[in-house]
Amino acid sequence: MKLDVDVLRYLSKDDFRVLTAVELGMRNHEIVPTELIDRIARLKHGGTYKVLKNLLKYKLLHHDSSKYDGFRLTYLGYDFLAIKTMVNKGVFVGVGRQIGVGKESDIFEVVREDGTVLAMKLHRLGRVSFRAVKSKRDYLRHRSSYNWLYLSRLAALKEFAFMKALETHGFPVPNAIEHNRHCVVMSLVQGYPLVQVKQLPNPETVFETIIGLVVRLAEHGLIHCDFNEFNIMIDDDEKITMIDFPQMVSVSHRNAQMYFDRDVECIFKFFRKRFNLSFQESIDDIDGSDDGRDEAGKPCFSAIERSAGFLDRELAASGFTRKDEEDIQRFIEGGAESDTNSDSEGVDIVEDLNEAETVDGDSSHLLEQNEGYDSKGKEESCEARESSGSEKE
Ligand code: ADP
Ligand code: MG
Repeated sequence: MKLDVDVLRYLSKDDFRVLTAVELGMRNHEIVPTELIDRIARLKHGGTYKVLKNLLKYKLLHHDSSKYDGFRLTYLGYDFLAIKTMVNKGVFVGVGRQIGVGKESDIFEVVREDGTVLAMKLHRLGRVSFRAVKSKRDYLRHRSSYNWLYLSRLAALKEFAFMKALETHGFPVPNAIEHNRHCVVMSLVQGYPLVQVKQLPNPETVFETIIGLVVRLAEHGLIHCDFNEFNIMIDDDEKITMIDFPQMVSVSHRNAQMYFDRDVECIFKFFRKRFNLSFQESIDDIDGSDDGRDEAGKPCFSAIERSAGFLDRELAASGFTRKDEEDIQRFIEGGAESDTNSDSEGVDIVEDLNEAETVDGDSSHLLEQNEGYDSKGKEESCEARESSGSEKE
């Protein structure tokens, strides 16, 4: 999907007010009745209807009149709300080219006022089919729009919290700068995803560093769960940075052992295939012992688990709650199904617009145009890893 940030220039305060009204309405309506949008936005002289037309023209909203007349946000609409908020907060002043298309995200360069370039990740969890956990409707009755909006926001919240915590504990991760809605802004990692690297001067050392990371993560109580050549960045000095954290779990997760072994296996497999490494020697060479490793030289989860730290519990106290974790995990691990319509009568949200994080203000200073993007292709790695197929919206 192209993110034509240029459109931001043409959006007025009223446009953003109505866009925010739709977002608020989506708290309990998948399609927000037009009349409700008007009540929330409270623009004079039927202004809302004119604005809705404009937003539709720019594809920030989707119109649906199958059951009643209403609108929902598109990804683009949600993107613009987050981007506008970031700009208003002074996090960045412009959006540049797209640098990555992940399974469930789009990554762009953004530029700060001083010219520093950062990375912005827009989460697209649930992009596949607007999936939602219908069977958990009871559990979610206070948040009936259990949809991509909610899931993408959770993913961003989780990613931000984990990135911060990992950085604090000395892990090589991007510097987490800000998050809003489904958007995370972080430092731009120099280098390339490992998958693009055909040759390495010191593959054994790089391999050891990477396996050492998986082990150290587990010692801190965490498993990455998507630890592969797509989520490991490497620069010209062979410095490693790991990225992509929304699916991480605690070592106390019931499938922890399986996730850990899978992460390890992916790395072994990749280095075996790409760099022809034979592992037994390299591990013994580096460690001087094979403690905590099995016959094949792979780290044993049970040995690590016993001494695992408390980072997982620390994270639970970081604003990313246990319930958030349960919701997102339920989605990631499957069991999600199509959410047809989650409209519910209910809470009067008309007052909320004033409390909500609205995004007023001038946007004409959004500088660069999107220069198109280079797609790095769909993320497919260890065969064992990728389970569900995904089609983009
Ligand atoms: P997904 O969850 O969709 O897989 P990722 O976080 O793995 O998203 O990002 C997708 C791609 O975007 C990465 O493989 C990488 O090429 C690029 N990317 C992500 N974050 C950064 C960053 N901070 N700096 C540079 N490139 C990044
Ligand atoms: Mg990834």
